[in-house]
Amino acid sequence: MRQPWRVAVVGGGIAGLAAAVRLRDSAPAGTEITVYEQSGVLGGKLRTGELAGQPVEFGAESFLMRDPTGAESAAVALARRLGLAEKIVHPTVGQAALVIDGGLRPIPGGTLVGVPGDLDRVAAVARPAADADTDGGRPLVGPDADVSVGALVRSRFGNEVVERLVDPMLGGVYAGRADDLSLVTTMPALARTARVEHTLVGAVRAAQAAAPRAPGAPVFGTLAGGLSTLIEAAVTASGATVRRDAAVRELTPTGTGWRLTVGPTRDPQLVDVDAVVLAVPARPAARLLAGPAPAVAAGVGALDYASVALVTMALPQPRLPELSGFLVPSTEGLLIKAATFFTTKWGHLRRPDGLALVRASVGRYGEEAHLQRPDADLAATVHRELSAVLGTPLPAPVDGHVQRWGGALPQYAPGHADRLAAARTALRAAHPTLVLAGAGYDGVGIPVCVRSGETAAEEIITALGGSAR
Ligand SMILES: Cc1cc2nc3c(=O)[nH]c(=O)nc-3n(C[C@H](O)[C@H](O)[C@H](O)COP(=O)(O)OP(=O)(O)OC[C@H]3O[C@@H](n4cnc5c(N)ncnc54)[C@H](O)[C@@H]3O)c2cc1C
Repeated sequence: MRQPWRVAVVGGGIAGLAAAVRLRDSAPAGTEITVYEQSGVLGGKLRTGELAGQPVEFGAESFLMRDPTGAESAAVALARRLGLAEKIVHPTVGQAALVIDGGLRPIPGGTLVGVPGDLDRVAAVARPAADADTDGGRPLVGPDADVSVGALVRSRFGNEVVERLVDPMLGGVYAGRADDLSLVTTMPALARTARVEHTLVGAVRAAQAAAPRAPGAPVFGTLAGGLSTLIEAAVTASGATVRRDAAVRELTPTGTGWRLTVGPTRDPQLVDVDAVVLAVPARPAARLLAGPAPAVAAGVGALDYASVALVTMALPQPRLPELSGFLVPSTEGLLIKAATFFTTKWGHLRRPDGLALVRASVGRYGEEAHLQRPDADLAATVHRELSAVLGTPLPAPVDGHVQRWGGALPQYAPGHADRLAAARTALRAAHPTLVLAGAGYDGVGIPVCVRSGETAAEEIITALGGSAR
Protein backbone atom coordinates (compact mmCIF):
# COMPACT_ATOMS: atom_id res chain seq x y z
CA MET A 1 0.00 0.00 0.00
CA ARG A 2 1.35 3.41 -0.95
CA GLN A 3 2.27 5.69 1.93
CA PRO A 4 0.91 7.95 3.21
CA TRP A 5 -2.67 6.66 2.96
CA ARG A 6 -5.23 8.98 1.41
CA VAL A 7 -8.70 8.62 2.89
CA ALA A 8 -11.77 10.57 1.78
CA VAL A 9 -14.61 11.13 4.21
CA VAL A 10 -17.73 11.99 2.22
CA GLY A 11 -20.20 13.91 4.41
CA GLY A 12 -19.28 16.45 7.07
CA GLY A 13 -21.90 15.49 9.67
CA ILE A 14 -21.05 14.07 13.08
CA ALA A 15 -20.53 10.52 11.71
CA GLY A 16 -18.03 11.72 9.10
CA LEU A 17 -16.14 13.88 11.57
CA ALA A 18 -16.03 11.15 14.23
CA ALA A 19 -14.56 8.91 11.53
CA ALA A 20 -11.96 11.57 10.70
CA VAL A 21 -10.90 11.87 14.36
CA ARG A 22 -10.63 8.09 14.74
CA LEU A 23 -8.59 7.87 11.53
CA ARG A 24 -6.20 10.52 12.87
CA ASP A 25 -5.90 8.67 16.18
CA SER A 26 -5.51 5.15 14.81
CA ALA A 27 -4.27 5.23 11.20
CA PRO A 28 -0.56 5.51 10.46
CA ALA A 29 0.97 8.93 11.10
CA GLY A 30 0.81 11.14 8.03
CA THR A 31 -2.47 9.70 6.71
CA GLU A 32 -4.07 12.32 4.49
CA ILE A 33 -7.72 12.77 5.46
CA THR A 34 -10.04 14.96 3.39
CA VAL A 35 -13.65 15.68 4.36
CA TYR A 36 -15.98 16.51 1.47
CA GLU A 37 -19.16 18.37 2.43
CA GLN A 38 -21.71 19.35 -0.18
CA SER A 39 -23.07 22.33 1.73
CA GLY A 40 -21.27 25.42 2.93
CA VAL A 41 -21.40 24.33 6.59
CA LEU A 42 -20.15 21.31 8.45
CA GLY A 43 -22.18 19.50 11.09
CA GLY A 44 -25.13 18.11 9.12
CA LYS A 45 -28.04 17.91 11.58
CA LEU A 46 -25.92 19.57 14.27
CA ARG A 47 -26.24 23.28 13.76
CA THR A 48 -25.93 25.94 16.43
CA GLY A 49 -27.47 29.21 15.31
CA GLU A 50 -28.30 32.45 17.08
CA LEU A 51 -31.57 33.98 18.17
CA ALA A 52 -32.05 37.16 20.18
CA GLY A 53 -28.26 37.36 20.52
CA GLN A 54 -27.98 33.90 22.06
CA PRO A 55 -26.63 30.62 20.69
CA VAL A 56 -29.45 28.15 20.14
CA GLU A 57 -29.69 24.78 18.45
CA PHE A 58 -31.44 24.78 15.08
CA GLY A 59 -30.95 21.00 14.79
CA ALA A 60 -30.06 18.30 17.32
CA GLU A 61 -30.22 19.62 20.84
CA SER A 62 -28.59 17.13 23.20
CA PHE A 63 -27.09 13.65 23.45
CA LEU A 64 -27.63 10.62 25.62
CA MET A 65 -25.01 10.32 28.34
CA ARG A 66 -25.13 6.50 28.38
CA ASP A 67 -25.50 3.83 25.74
CA PRO A 68 -28.04 1.00 26.09
CA THR A 69 -25.55 -1.13 28.08
CA GLY A 70 -25.17 1.63 30.66
CA ALA A 71 -21.63 2.53 29.58
CA GLU A 72 -20.60 6.10 28.80
CA SER A 73 -22.02 7.04 25.40
CA ALA A 74 -19.75 7.51 22.40
CA ALA A 75 -20.79 11.18 22.27
CA VAL A 76 -19.48 11.76 25.80
CA ALA A 77 -16.28 9.86 25.00
CA LEU A 78 -15.76 11.98 21.87
CA ALA A 79 -16.36 15.21 23.82
CA ARG A 80 -13.76 14.01 26.33
CA ARG A 81 -11.30 13.14 23.55
CA LEU A 82 -11.78 16.64 22.13
CA GLY A 83 -11.20 18.36 25.48
CA LEU A 84 -14.85 19.38 25.80
CA ALA A 85 -15.90 17.23 28.78
CA GLU A 86 -15.91 20.30 31.04
CA LYS A 87 -18.42 21.96 28.72
CA ILE A 88 -21.05 19.23 29.13
CA VAL A 89 -24.15 20.57 30.87
CA HIS A 90 -27.38 18.80 31.82
CA PRO A 91 -31.02 19.85 31.88
CA THR A 92 -31.97 21.84 34.97
CA VAL A 93 -35.59 20.82 34.48
CA GLY A 94 -36.05 17.29 33.19
CA GLN A 95 -39.79 16.78 33.59
CA ALA A 96 -41.72 16.98 30.33
CA ALA A 97 -45.44 16.66 29.67
CA LEU A 98 -47.84 15.06 27.26
CA VAL A 99 -50.76 16.86 25.73
CA ILE A 100 -53.84 14.82 26.56
CA ASP A 101 -57.30 16.13 25.67
CA GLY A 102 -55.82 19.56 25.04
CA GLY A 103 -54.11 19.92 28.45
CA LEU A 104 -50.71 19.05 29.92
CA ARG A 105 -50.05 15.95 32.00
CA PRO A 106 -46.59 14.95 33.29
CA ILE A 107 -44.94 12.16 31.33
CA PRO A 108 -44.91 9.18 33.69
CA GLY A 109 -41.51 7.87 34.74
CA GLY A 110 -40.30 4.28 34.54
CA THR A 111 -40.99 3.73 30.84
CA LEU A 112 -38.66 2.78 28.02
CA VAL A 113 -39.45 5.33 25.30
CA GLY A 114 -43.03 5.25 26.55
CA VAL A 115 -43.29 1.45 26.96
CA PRO A 116 -44.17 0.94 30.62
CA GLY A 117 -42.49 -1.52 32.95
CA ASP A 118 -45.11 -0.74 35.61
CA LEU A 119 -48.65 -0.32 34.29
CA ASP A 120 -49.90 1.51 37.39
CA ARG A 121 -47.43 4.34 36.83
CA VAL A 122 -48.92 5.26 33.45
CA ALA A 123 -52.57 5.08 34.50
CA ALA A 124 -52.98 8.89 34.64
CA VAL A 125 -52.15 9.11 30.95
CA ALA A 126 -53.24 5.85 29.31
CA ARG A 127 -55.23 2.82 30.37
CA PRO A 128 -53.37 -0.36 29.44
CA ALA A 129 -55.49 -3.23 28.12
CA ALA A 130 -56.50 -5.53 30.94
CA ASP A 131 -54.70 -8.90 31.15
CA ALA A 132 -53.36 -8.97 27.59
CA ASP A 133 -49.71 -9.22 28.67
CA THR A 134 -49.85 -12.87 29.73
CA ASP A 135 -47.09 -15.47 29.68
CA GLY A 136 -47.69 -17.57 26.58
CA GLY A 137 -44.84 -19.92 27.41
CA ARG A 138 -42.39 -18.50 24.88
CA PRO A 139 -40.40 -15.32 24.23
CA LEU A 140 -42.27 -12.34 22.85
CA VAL A 141 -40.17 -12.19 19.69
CA GLY A 142 -38.46 -15.05 17.83
CA PRO A 143 -34.64 -15.24 17.79
CA ASP A 144 -34.23 -13.64 14.34
CA ALA A 145 -37.53 -11.82 14.08
CA ASP A 146 -38.22 -8.11 14.03
CA VAL A 147 -41.61 -6.45 14.52
CA SER A 148 -42.86 -2.90 14.65
CA VAL A 149 -42.79 -1.34 18.09
CA GLY A 150 -46.46 -0.47 17.65
CA ALA A 151 -47.53 -4.02 16.82
CA LEU A 152 -45.74 -5.44 19.87
CA VAL A 153 -47.04 -2.84 22.32
CA ARG A 154 -50.61 -2.87 20.93
CA SER A 155 -50.79 -6.65 21.29
CA ARG A 156 -49.68 -6.50 24.93
CA PHE A 157 -50.89 -3.16 26.34
CA GLY A 158 -53.59 -2.04 23.88
CA ASN A 159 -54.03 0.99 21.65
CA GLU A 160 -54.07 3.78 24.20
CA VAL A 161 -50.53 3.08 25.45
CA VAL A 162 -49.29 3.25 21.85
CA GLU A 163 -51.23 6.37 20.92
CA ARG A 164 -50.69 8.39 24.08
CA LEU A 165 -47.22 7.29 25.17
CA VAL A 166 -45.12 5.33 22.69
CA ASP A 167 -46.13 7.18 19.51
CA PRO A 168 -45.40 10.66 20.86
CA MET A 169 -42.13 9.57 22.49
CA LEU A 170 -40.82 7.62 19.49
CA GLY A 171 -42.27 10.34 17.24
CA GLY A 172 -40.23 12.89 19.19
CA VAL A 173 -37.09 11.14 17.94
CA TYR A 174 -38.11 9.81 14.50
CA ALA A 175 -41.13 11.93 13.49
CA GLY A 176 -42.62 8.56 12.59
CA ARG A 177 -45.22 6.17 13.95
CA ALA A 178 -44.63 3.26 16.29
CA ASP A 179 -46.61 1.04 13.89
CA ASP A 180 -44.00 1.58 11.16
CA LEU A 181 -40.76 1.52 13.17
CA SER A 182 -38.52 -1.49 13.75
CA LEU A 183 -38.15 -2.74 17.32
CA VAL A 184 -34.62 -4.02 16.62
CA THR A 185 -33.30 -0.72 15.26
CA THR A 186 -35.22 1.85 17.31
CA MET A 187 -35.33 0.01 20.66
CA PRO A 188 -32.38 -2.42 20.58
CA ALA A 189 -32.27 -2.97 24.33
CA LEU A 190 -35.94 -3.97 24.41
CA ALA A 191 -35.49 -6.14 21.32
CA ARG A 192 -32.76 -8.10 23.12
CA THR A 193 -34.87 -8.78 26.21
CA ALA A 194 -38.03 -9.45 24.14
CA ARG A 195 -36.18 -12.43 22.69
CA VAL A 196 -35.92 -13.93 26.17
CA GLU A 197 -38.84 -12.65 28.24
CA HIS A 198 -42.42 -13.93 27.96
CA THR A 199 -44.20 -10.69 28.88
CA LEU A 200 -43.67 -7.11 27.78
CA VAL A 201 -43.56 -5.85 31.35
CA GLY A 202 -40.83 -8.44 31.99
CA ALA A 203 -38.91 -7.40 28.88
CA VAL A 204 -39.04 -3.69 29.79
CA ARG A 205 -37.88 -4.41 33.34
CA ALA A 206 -35.06 -6.67 32.10
CA ALA A 207 -33.90 -3.97 29.65
CA GLN A 208 -33.95 -1.38 32.44
CA ALA A 209 -32.05 -3.71 34.77
CA ALA A 210 -29.41 -4.35 32.08
CA ALA A 211 -28.54 -0.65 32.05
CA PRO A 212 -29.02 0.49 35.63
CA ARG A 213 -28.86 4.22 36.14
CA ALA A 214 -27.42 5.70 39.31
CA PRO A 215 -30.16 7.68 41.07
CA GLY A 216 -30.03 11.29 39.88
CA ALA A 217 -27.55 10.52 37.09
CA PRO A 218 -28.33 12.78 34.13
CA VAL A 219 -29.80 11.12 31.05
CA PHE A 220 -29.00 13.92 28.60
CA GLY A 221 -26.20 16.38 28.11
CA THR A 222 -25.30 19.12 25.70
CA LEU A 223 -22.36 21.47 25.27
CA ALA A 224 -22.46 24.97 26.72
CA GLY A 225 -21.61 27.07 23.69
CA GLY A 226 -23.52 24.78 21.37
CA LEU A 227 -23.16 21.44 19.63
CA SER A 228 -21.37 23.06 16.71
CA THR A 229 -18.35 23.35 19.04
CA LEU A 230 -18.14 19.54 18.90
CA ILE A 231 -17.90 19.77 15.12
CA GLU A 232 -15.26 22.52 15.18
CA ALA A 233 -13.17 20.63 17.74
CA ALA A 234 -13.44 17.41 15.71
CA VAL A 235 -12.20 19.17 12.58
CA THR A 236 -9.21 20.56 14.45
CA ALA A 237 -8.34 17.27 16.16
CA SER A 238 -8.64 15.29 12.93
CA GLY A 239 -6.20 17.54 11.09
CA ALA A 240 -8.35 16.83 8.04
CA THR A 241 -8.44 19.01 4.98
CA VAL A 242 -12.02 20.24 4.73
CA ARG A 243 -13.67 20.87 1.36
CA ARG A 244 -16.98 22.73 1.77
CA ASP A 245 -19.42 23.23 -1.14
CA ALA A 246 -17.87 20.04 -2.51
CA ALA A 247 -20.55 17.48 -3.36
CA VAL A 248 -19.15 14.08 -4.30
CA ARG A 249 -21.16 13.02 -7.35
CA GLU A 250 -19.54 9.77 -8.37
CA LEU A 251 -17.37 7.02 -6.89
CA THR A 252 -15.42 4.87 -9.32
CA PRO A 253 -13.22 1.94 -8.30
CA THR A 254 -9.70 2.24 -9.75
CA GLY A 255 -8.36 -1.19 -8.85
CA THR A 256 -6.16 0.18 -6.09
CA GLY A 257 -8.67 2.59 -4.56
CA TRP A 258 -11.31 5.11 -5.60
CA ARG A 259 -11.72 8.03 -7.96
CA LEU A 260 -14.07 10.72 -6.66
CA THR A 261 -15.87 13.08 -8.98
CA VAL A 262 -16.30 16.24 -6.94
CA GLY A 263 -18.08 19.54 -7.56
CA PRO A 264 -20.34 20.94 -10.26
CA THR A 265 -21.10 18.92 -13.40
CA ARG A 266 -19.68 21.66 -15.61
CA ASP A 267 -16.36 21.81 -13.75
CA PRO A 268 -15.81 18.48 -12.00
CA GLN A 269 -12.64 17.62 -10.17
CA LEU A 270 -11.29 14.06 -10.12
CA VAL A 271 -9.53 12.95 -6.95
CA ASP A 272 -7.84 9.58 -6.34
CA VAL A 273 -7.82 8.10 -2.84
CA ASP A 274 -7.09 4.73 -1.23
CA ALA A 275 -10.32 4.45 0.77
CA VAL A 276 -13.66 6.18 1.37
CA VAL A 277 -15.88 6.56 4.44
CA LEU A 278 -19.32 7.23 2.99
CA ALA A 279 -21.03 9.19 5.77
CA VAL A 280 -24.05 10.61 3.94
CA PRO A 281 -27.76 9.73 4.35
CA ALA A 282 -29.05 6.60 2.62
CA ARG A 283 -30.56 8.33 -0.43
CA PRO A 284 -27.37 10.14 -1.58
CA ALA A 285 -25.37 7.05 -0.57
CA ALA A 286 -27.54 4.89 -2.83
CA ARG A 287 -26.91 7.26 -5.76
CA LEU A 288 -23.13 7.03 -5.21
CA LEU A 289 -23.26 3.23 -4.81
CA ALA A 290 -25.39 2.69 -7.93
CA GLY A 291 -22.32 2.47 -10.17
CA PRO A 292 -19.85 0.38 -8.14
CA ALA A 293 -22.34 -1.73 -6.13
CA PRO A 294 -25.88 -1.65 -7.59
CA ALA A 295 -27.30 -4.41 -5.38
CA VAL A 296 -25.99 -2.67 -2.26
CA ALA A 297 -27.44 0.62 -3.54
CA ALA A 298 -30.88 -0.98 -3.85
CA GLY A 299 -30.73 -2.29 -0.27
CA VAL A 300 -29.48 0.98 1.19
CA GLY A 301 -31.77 3.22 -0.87
CA ALA A 302 -34.93 1.46 0.30
CA LEU A 303 -34.90 3.52 3.49
CA ASP A 304 -37.59 6.18 3.68
CA TYR A 305 -37.20 9.53 5.49
CA ALA A 306 -39.46 11.99 7.34
CA SER A 307 -39.17 15.76 7.01
CA VAL A 308 -39.56 18.18 9.89
CA ALA A 309 -39.44 21.91 10.54
CA LEU A 310 -38.25 23.49 13.78
CA VAL A 311 -39.87 26.79 14.70
CA THR A 312 -37.94 28.67 17.38
CA MET A 313 -39.21 31.89 18.91
CA ALA A 314 -37.94 34.38 21.47
CA LEU A 315 -40.82 35.46 23.71
CA PRO A 316 -40.62 38.36 26.17
CA GLN A 317 -41.46 37.11 29.67
CA PRO A 318 -44.10 34.50 28.82
CA ARG A 319 -45.78 32.51 31.59
CA LEU A 320 -44.34 29.03 31.03
CA PRO A 321 -44.80 26.00 33.26
CA GLU A 322 -41.76 24.52 35.03
CA LEU A 323 -41.36 21.86 32.34
CA SER A 324 -38.66 21.07 29.82
CA GLY A 325 -41.35 20.89 27.14
CA PHE A 326 -44.15 18.68 25.89
CA LEU A 327 -44.98 16.00 23.34
CA VAL A 328 -48.19 15.83 21.36
CA PRO A 329 -49.92 12.56 20.38
CA SER A 330 -51.08 12.72 16.76
CA THR A 331 -54.65 12.05 17.97
CA GLU A 332 -54.72 15.58 19.46
CA GLY A 333 -55.01 17.07 15.96
CA LEU A 334 -52.28 19.70 16.44
CA LEU A 335 -49.58 20.67 13.98
CA ILE A 336 -46.98 20.79 16.78
CA LYS A 337 -45.37 17.40 17.42
CA ALA A 338 -43.18 18.50 20.32
CA ALA A 339 -42.12 21.68 22.07
CA THR A 340 -39.02 22.50 24.11
CA PHE A 341 -38.81 25.37 26.57
CA PHE A 342 -35.08 25.92 26.06
CA THR A 343 -34.62 28.60 28.70
CA THR A 344 -36.48 26.56 31.33
CA LYS A 345 -34.85 23.24 30.46
CA TRP A 346 -31.24 24.45 30.24
CA GLY A 347 -29.97 26.59 33.12
CA HIS A 348 -27.07 27.86 31.02
CA LEU A 349 -29.52 29.42 28.54
CA ARG A 350 -31.56 31.35 31.13
CA ARG A 351 -31.54 35.10 30.66
CA PRO A 352 -31.70 37.88 33.21
CA ASP A 353 -34.21 39.78 31.06
CA GLY A 354 -36.68 36.87 31.24
CA LEU A 355 -36.71 36.38 27.47
CA ALA A 356 -37.73 32.79 26.79
CA LEU A 357 -36.59 30.66 23.85
CA VAL A 358 -39.22 28.13 22.83
CA ARG A 359 -38.87 25.65 20.01
CA ALA A 360 -41.62 23.59 18.41
CA SER A 361 -41.13 20.73 16.03
CA VAL A 362 -43.62 20.30 13.23
CA GLY A 363 -44.08 17.45 10.78
CA ARG A 364 -44.86 13.79 11.04
CA TYR A 365 -44.02 11.09 8.54
CA GLY A 366 -46.69 11.04 5.82
CA GLU A 367 -47.88 14.59 6.62
CA GLU A 368 -45.30 16.46 4.56
CA ALA A 369 -48.04 18.62 2.97
CA HIS A 370 -48.19 20.73 6.17
CA LEU A 371 -44.56 21.66 5.64
CA GLN A 372 -45.40 23.33 2.30
CA ARG A 373 -46.73 26.33 4.23
CA PRO A 374 -44.60 29.48 4.28
CA ASP A 375 -42.44 30.19 7.34
CA ALA A 376 -44.71 32.96 8.65
CA ASP A 377 -47.75 30.68 8.47
CA LEU A 378 -45.96 27.86 10.33
CA ALA A 379 -44.75 30.28 12.99
CA ALA A 380 -48.22 31.79 13.48
CA THR A 381 -49.83 28.35 13.80
CA VAL A 382 -47.20 27.22 16.29
CA HIS A 383 -47.70 30.40 18.35
CA ARG A 384 -51.47 29.89 18.39
CA GLU A 385 -51.22 26.20 19.31
CA LEU A 386 -48.67 26.89 22.06
CA SER A 387 -51.01 29.47 23.60
CA ALA A 388 -53.89 27.01 23.46
CA VAL A 389 -51.96 24.16 25.07
CA LEU A 390 -50.56 26.43 27.80
CA GLY A 391 -53.99 27.96 28.37
CA THR A 392 -52.64 31.50 28.22
CA PRO A 393 -52.08 33.90 25.32
CA LEU A 394 -48.35 34.10 24.68
CA PRO A 395 -46.73 37.47 23.94
CA ALA A 396 -45.72 38.21 20.36
CA PRO A 397 -42.23 36.93 19.57
CA VAL A 398 -39.40 39.47 19.35
CA ASP A 399 -37.34 37.15 17.16
CA GLY A 400 -37.92 33.86 15.38
CA HIS A 401 -36.39 31.27 13.09
CA VAL A 402 -37.76 28.42 11.00
CA GLN A 403 -35.34 25.62 10.20
CA ARG A 404 -36.50 23.05 7.69
CA TRP A 405 -34.94 19.61 7.67
CA GLY A 406 -36.12 17.90 4.50
CA GLY A 407 -35.81 14.11 4.36
CA ALA A 408 -33.93 14.14 7.64
CA LEU A 409 -35.18 11.35 9.87
CA PRO A 410 -34.86 7.69 8.79
CA GLN A 411 -37.97 5.52 9.10
CA TYR A 412 -36.45 2.14 9.90
CA ALA A 413 -39.04 -0.46 8.95
CA PRO A 414 -39.00 -3.92 10.61
CA GLY A 415 -36.17 -5.96 9.06
CA HIS A 416 -33.95 -2.88 8.53
CA ALA A 417 -31.05 -4.31 10.56
CA ASP A 418 -31.00 -7.56 8.53
CA ARG A 419 -31.27 -5.71 5.21
CA LEU A 420 -28.44 -3.46 6.21
CA ALA A 421 -26.26 -6.30 7.45
CA ALA A 422 -26.71 -8.06 4.09
CA ALA A 423 -25.86 -4.85 2.20
CA ARG A 424 -22.76 -4.31 4.32
CA THR A 425 -21.59 -7.89 3.89
CA ALA A 426 -21.95 -7.58 0.11
CA LEU A 427 -20.14 -4.23 0.09
CA ARG A 428 -17.31 -5.55 2.27
CA ALA A 429 -16.84 -8.54 -0.02
CA ALA A 430 -16.77 -6.47 -3.21
CA HIS A 431 -15.19 -3.21 -2.00
CA PRO A 432 -13.58 -3.44 1.46
CA THR A 433 -12.16 0.10 1.18
CA LEU A 434 -15.60 1.69 0.92
CA VAL A 435 -17.45 1.78 4.25
CA LEU A 436 -20.86 3.23 5.20
CA ALA A 437 -21.37 5.34 8.33
CA GLY A 438 -24.09 7.42 9.93
CA ALA A 439 -27.77 7.65 10.67
CA GLY A 440 -28.89 6.00 7.45
CA TYR A 441 -27.55 2.71 8.68
CA ASP A 442 -27.01 2.29 12.41
CA GLY A 443 -29.75 4.42 13.96
CA VAL A 444 -30.37 8.09 14.65
CA GLY A 445 -28.77 10.04 17.46
CA ILE A 446 -25.42 11.62 18.08
CA PRO A 447 -23.92 8.73 20.12
CA VAL A 448 -24.96 6.10 17.57
CA CYS A 449 -23.58 8.19 14.69
CA VAL A 450 -20.29 8.86 16.51
CA ARG A 451 -19.84 5.14 17.09
CA SER A 452 -20.83 4.37 13.52
CA GLY A 453 -18.18 6.78 12.19
CA GLU A 454 -15.52 5.40 14.50
CA THR A 455 -16.31 1.81 13.52
CA ALA A 456 -16.13 2.75 9.83
CA ALA A 457 -12.70 4.32 10.40
CA GLU A 458 -11.47 1.14 12.06
CA GLU A 459 -12.77 -0.99 9.19
CA ILE A 460 -10.92 1.22 6.72
CA ILE A 461 -7.70 0.86 8.70
CA THR A 462 -8.08 -2.92 8.68
CA ALA A 463 -8.91 -2.96 4.96
CA LEU A 464 -5.82 -0.91 4.14
CA GLY A 465 -3.74 -3.46 5.97
CA GLY A 466 -3.04 -1.46 9.08
CA SER A 467 -3.69 -2.08 12.71
CA ALA A 468 -4.88 0.44 15.22
CA ARG A 469 -1.98 2.40 16.64
C1 LIG B 1 -34.38 18.06 13.67
C2 LIG B 1 -33.50 17.00 14.26
C3 LIG B 1 -33.28 16.99 15.63
C4 LIG B 1 -32.46 16.00 16.20
N1 LIG B 1 -32.23 16.02 17.54
C5 LIG B 1 -31.36 15.14 18.07
C6 LIG B 1 -30.98 15.25 19.44
O1 LIG B 1 -31.40 16.16 20.17
N2 LIG B 1 -30.11 14.32 19.92
C7 LIG B 1 -29.57 13.34 19.13
O2 LIG B 1 -28.76 12.53 19.62
N3 LIG B 1 -29.90 13.23 17.82
C8 LIG B 1 -30.76 14.12 17.29
N4 LIG B 1 -31.09 14.03 15.96
C9 LIG B 1 -30.47 12.96 15.16
C10 LIG B 1 -29.02 13.29 14.84
O3 LIG B 1 -28.85 14.67 14.71
C11 LIG B 1 -28.61 12.59 13.56
O4 LIG B 1 -28.90 11.21 13.67
C12 LIG B 1 -27.12 12.76 13.26
O5 LIG B 1 -26.70 14.09 13.46
C13 LIG B 1 -26.84 12.29 11.85
O6 LIG B 1 -25.47 12.44 11.58
P1 LIG B 1 -24.83 11.92 10.22
O7 LIG B 1 -23.43 12.38 10.23
O8 LIG B 1 -25.12 10.48 10.06
O9 LIG B 1 -25.65 12.61 9.04
P2 LIG B 1 -25.90 14.13 8.66
O10 LIG B 1 -25.94 15.00 9.85
O11 LIG B 1 -27.09 14.09 7.77
O12 LIG B 1 -24.60 14.53 7.82
C14 LIG B 1 -24.41 14.08 6.52
C15 LIG B 1 -23.70 15.17 5.73
O13 LIG B 1 -23.43 14.68 4.43
C16 LIG B 1 -23.57 15.75 3.52
N5 LIG B 1 -23.73 15.17 2.18
C17 LIG B 1 -24.80 14.53 1.65
N6 LIG B 1 -24.54 14.12 0.40
C18 LIG B 1 -23.27 14.50 0.12
C19 LIG B 1 -22.43 14.36 -1.02
N7 LIG B 1 -22.85 13.72 -2.13
N8 LIG B 1 -21.18 14.84 -0.95
C20 LIG B 1 -20.72 15.49 0.16
N9 LIG B 1 -21.49 15.66 1.26
C21 LIG B 1 -22.74 15.17 1.24
C22 LIG B 1 -24.77 16.51 4.04
O14 LIG B 1 -24.80 17.84 3.55
C23 LIG B 1 -24.54 16.43 5.56
O15 LIG B 1 -23.81 17.54 6.03
C24 LIG B 1 -31.89 15.01 15.37
C25 LIG B 1 -32.13 15.02 13.99
C26 LIG B 1 -32.92 16.00 13.44
C27 LIG B 1 -33.15 16.02 11.96
